[in-house]
Amino acid sequence: MNSLKRLVLILGDQLDLKGAALRDFDFKTDEVVMIESIPEAQYVWSHKAKIALFLSAMRHFAKSLKELNYPLEYIQASPLSIVAALKEKIAQERITHLICVEPGEWRLKQQLEELAKELSIGLEMREDDHFYCSHQEFIQWTAGKKELRLEYFYRLMRKTHNILVDSEGNPEGGQWNFDQDNRKPYPKKGPGMIEAPVLFEPDLVTKEVLEFVNATYSDHPGSLDDFWWPVTREQALEALEYFVEYRLRNFGIFQDAMWTDTPLGWHSILSSSLNLKLLNPREVINAVLQAWKKYSLDLSTVEGFIRQILGWREFVRGMYYLDMPRMAKDNYYGHQRSLPKWYWTGKTDMACMKDAIGQTLRYGYAHHIQRLMVTGNFALLSEILPSEVCDWYLAIYVDAIEWVELPNTAGMALFANGGRFTSKPYIASGAYIKRMSNYCDSCKYKPDVRFGDAACPITTLYWNFLIKHRSQFESSPRARLMTANLKRISDEDQKSIVEHADQLLNNLNNL
Ligand SMILES: Cc1cc2nc3c(=O)[nH]c(=O)nc-3n(C[C@H](O)[C@H](O)[C@H](O)COP(=O)(O)OP(=O)(O)OC[C@H]3O[C@@H](n4cnc5c(N)ncnc54)[C@H](O)[C@@H]3O)c2cc1C
Ligand code: SF4
Repeated sequence: MNSLKRLVLILGDQLDLKGAALRDFDFKTDEVVMIESIPEAQYVWSHKAKIALFLSAMRHFAKSLKELNYPLEYIQASPLSIVAALKEKIAQERITHLICVEPGEWRLKQQLEELAKELSIGLEMREDDHFYCSHQEFIQWTAGKKELRLEYFYRLMRKTHNILVDSEGNPEGGQWNFDQDNRKPYPKKGPGMIEAPVLFEPDLVTKEVLEFVNATYSDHPGSLDDFWWPVTREQALEALEYFVEYRLRNFGIFQDAMWTDTPLGWHSILSSSLNLKLLNPREVINAVLQAWKKYSLDLSTVEGFIRQILGWREFVRGMYYLDMPRMAKDNYYGHQRSLPKWYWTGKTDMACMKDAIGQTLRYGYAHHIQRLMVTGNFALLSEILPSEVCDWYLAIYVDAIEWVELPNTAGMALFANGGRFTSKPYIASGAYIKRMSNYCDSCKYKPDVRFGDAACPITTLYWNFLIKHRSQFESSPRARLMTANLKRISDEDQKSIVEHADQLLNNLNNL
C-alpha cells in the first residue's frame, strides 16, 4: 500500500494553475490547501486594499481549482498563523510530504523548513518559475564581483534570453539603456489626457471580501472605496492587453513624472498581478515586444519597460535571497528615529508627501519615483530607522511582498546596506521634486529656500545630510559631484541649515 500522502500548499502570492506547486499533482492521492490567516495581515499594519486584493484573488483562485476538481481545503479566516494552521492539518491527516513553491518571504520559508523538521515530514520547496533567473544563476553571476550593479546583470539577462538583442548579441538600437530619454517631467500645463487603465468592478466574491476586510480590519490604514484591482488571471490579462495597446507608448517618457491628482500616470499598474503570479513576466515581456512592432512604438519606451521587469525585478529578487536575513537588519547610517505618524494619515503640510501618501492610502499604489524620491527620500533624509520604513512599505502597497519590497526600500531608497548594489544614496532636494512635478506650486514651503520658516523641509534635510556625510560622499567618485555644490554655500548658511534641520528632525511628527 502506498503510504505517501502529499499536501500541496498554495500561498496567497502563488496563484498560478500552471505553477511549480501543481506541476505533478496526483488527483488520486494529493490534496491542496490554501489558508487565509488573519494574523498574516496584522504583523505589519496592512492597508485594507492589500488584504482585500490577496483574499479576493485567493478566493477566485480556489474557485478555479474546485472547477477543475482539485481536492482542496480552503481554510477561511483562520485565527492562526499560516504555519500553525498547517501544522494542525498535517497532524490531523497524517501528511507525509509537503510541497510548496518557495515563499516570497524569508520568515515563512524558515518557518516551513522548521515545521517540516519538527513533524519529520518531507518538504519539497520548489523554485518559483515566475522569474527568468534562478537562484543558482544569480549566485553564479555574483561570484568574484566587487560590485553588484543592475546594468551588467540586465545586459546578461538580455543576452541570455535573447530579448532586444540582434543576432550577434548587440543591443537593439545600438545601446543597452535609454534611461536618459525616460526622465521627462509632464509639460508645464500638465499631463493632458492620459489614457485611463482598465479598472475592474468588484464582483460578488470581491464584494464579500471587501465587507469582511472592513469589518475584520476596521482600524487598518487605507480605504476600500476605490478597489478596482485585477483579482483573476483573466482580468490581469485584460489589463496587460489594454496597457500595451494604449498606455505603453507614453510609459517611458513620463516614467519619472509626477503631478497632483494623477496617481497612475502612464504606468502599467501590473505589479500586483505579476507578484500574485496572475501574470508571468514572460508573457508580459512578449506582449510588450509584440506591441512594439504592431503599434510602431518607440524603442526607448519598450526598453525602459523591459528593463524594469527583466532587469530590476529579477535583480532585486536575486539580491533578496542572496542577502537575507542580513538585509532586514542592515542600518548603514545607524538611523534610529521613528517614522512620522502622518505616514499613516497623509496629514502633513508638505504637498509632495501629502499627495504621494494620500493616493497610497486611497489606492494602495504610488509609482516608483513617488516611492523612491518622495516618501523614500524623505525617510532617508529624516534618519528614520530602516526597519520602521520597511514595515510601512510592506504594509501599505498592494504589490508589497518582502522579496521585492525590502531590497527596494532598504537597499535602494535607504542605502541601509551601504551601497551593496547602488553606487550612491538616492537623495534629492526640493529642486528635483519641483522639476519633476507641480507639487511645489501648491505647497506652503519654497523648494529653493534652505533654512527659515519658508524653507522646504526636504531641501533643508538634503543639505544637512550632505554636510553630515560629506566625507563619505567625497570618497566616492560618483557621489563627489553632489558635495561640489556645498562649496557654494557659505559657512554661516551651512550652520543655519544644520540648526534648522535639527529643529525639523526633533519635530518630525508636526511637519
Ligand atoms: C521604496 C520602494 C519600495 C518598493 N516596493 C515595491 C513592492 O513592494 N512591490 C513591487 O512590486 N515593487 C516595489 N517597488 C518597485 C516599483 O516602485 C513598483 O514595482 C512599481 O511602482 C509598481 O507599479 P507599476 O506596476 O505601475 O510599475 P511600472 O512603472 O509600470 O513598471 C513595470 C513593472 O516593472 C517592475 N518594476 C519596476 N520597478 C521595479 C523595481 N524597482 N523592483 C522590482 N520590480 C520593478 C514591476 O513589476 C512593475 O509592475 C518599490 C520601489 C521603491 C523605491
Ligand atoms: S516645496 Fe518641498 S515639501 Fe513642498 S512640495 Fe516642494 S519639495 Fe515638497
